[in-house]
Amino acid sequence: MITVTLKSSKEKSLLRRHPWVYANAIDRVDGEPASGATVIVRAHDGRFLARAAYSAHSQIRARVWSFDEAEPVDHAFFRRRVQRALAHRQKMVQNTGAVRLIFGEADGLPGLVVDYYIADDETQRGQIVCQFMAAGVEAWKEAIVAALTDATGCPNVYERSDVSIREKEGLEQTTGVLAGDEPPATLISTENGVRYHVDVRNGHKTGFYVDQRDNRALVQQFAQGRDVLNCFCYTGGFSLAALKGGAQRVVSIDSSGEALALAQQNVTANGFDAARATWLDADAFKTLRRLYDEGERFDLIVLDPPKFAPSREHVDRAARAYKDINLTGLKLLRPGGLLFTYSCSGAIDAELFQKIVSSAASDARIDARILKRLGAGVDHPLLTAFPEGEYLKGLLLQIA
Ligand code: SAH
Repeated sequence: MITVTLKSSKEKSLLRRHPWVYANAIDRVDGEPASGATVIVRAHDGRFLARAAYSAHSQIRARVWSFDEAEPVDHAFFRRRVQRALAHRQKMVQNTGAVRLIFGEADGLPGLVVDYYIADDETQRGQIVCQFMAAGVEAWKEAIVAALTDATGCPNVYERSDVSIREKEGLEQTTGVLAGDEPPATLISTENGVRYHVDVRNGHKTGFYVDQRDNRALVQQFAQGRDVLNCFCYTGGFSLAALKGGAQRVVSIDSSGEALALAQQNVTANGFDAARATWLDADAFKTLRRLYDEGERFDLIVLDPPKFAPSREHVDRAARAYKDINLTGLKLLRPGGLLFTYSCSGAIDAELFQKIVSSAASDARIDARILKRLGAGVDHPLLTAFPEGEYLKGLLLQIA
């Protein structure tokens, strides 16, 4: 096995169990490992640090599989990792047909995301959807797919590796069936009593924002009798939760006609009164201002925009965009109204996000109180050694 030796004192982060080796920390590579090959990472003095997946093209030159010298990387390794991840989810995740089964580094499988749409009496057919985002998991794809189907008993695995991040790893974007049957046009997944149609082939990410489950449940809990506005609604996740929770009226905005069509299908699938829901195919920034100018007001608003800051360079512009929607969102609330506001930009941390929202409130001259800090569900764990894994953060605010 090829050895990667670090520069002197560059072993510290690995000793703290941070799972990435940057190219500039490497002193020498004894040989020419293929991309995705397993290498041994050693400190400058020769001490064993980790087994890792080599990535010839990325600045993240190696990602750690294991810090245990006695643990080889083979088929059994992937079976153990997948079984462990599944066991944790089975114990902790309830009231849902959709779980994040593997969340990359936090599950010891760097660069791999797997969502599992579980079969039940009604849906009959389960579906696993994967994103392979690093050379190591790409090289072990077959072993991983076998481990997934064995552990879950679900025969259907679909790949959604159509993500630009693969280019940094020298990998092309790809999608398709990895095992079992072609996914249906939409499958049905039930969460907290709400049925959602999910298009795993053409939808965003793996088809559904599994990470917002707990937050949708909160909206459901607080929606009774309220006028709700859901911005960036996609296929209606929060809108359906609000309808289920007894909202009086739900106005939803998204700029994707396809997402809105599925959202409307979801209203029908749940037997909700379509007259309670309004769907606006429009730009959320402009529509928020228009609604404000027209004197519309709401009791509960959800702002769950796409990632405004794809990387650090975009933080300033993203901060202005977050501030813009939060400012108008706060002004659109009636007294006592609730704002659920989110950012899924990894480059904007929870502290900065709170500052942005606070400055929106102060510019709007509104007294806002934080009732709760929000994040992804327990199936999106965050490794303490790997704070980079945090991306979704949110706040539940109430205005005076
Ligand atoms: N809240 C959703 C996920 C939101 S994803 C859920 O829980 O399922 C972000 C959504 O924002 C996408 O559906 C995308 O189509 C939409 N979008 C992006 N830019 C937009 C804009 N300027 N105006 C309105 N919608 C936009």
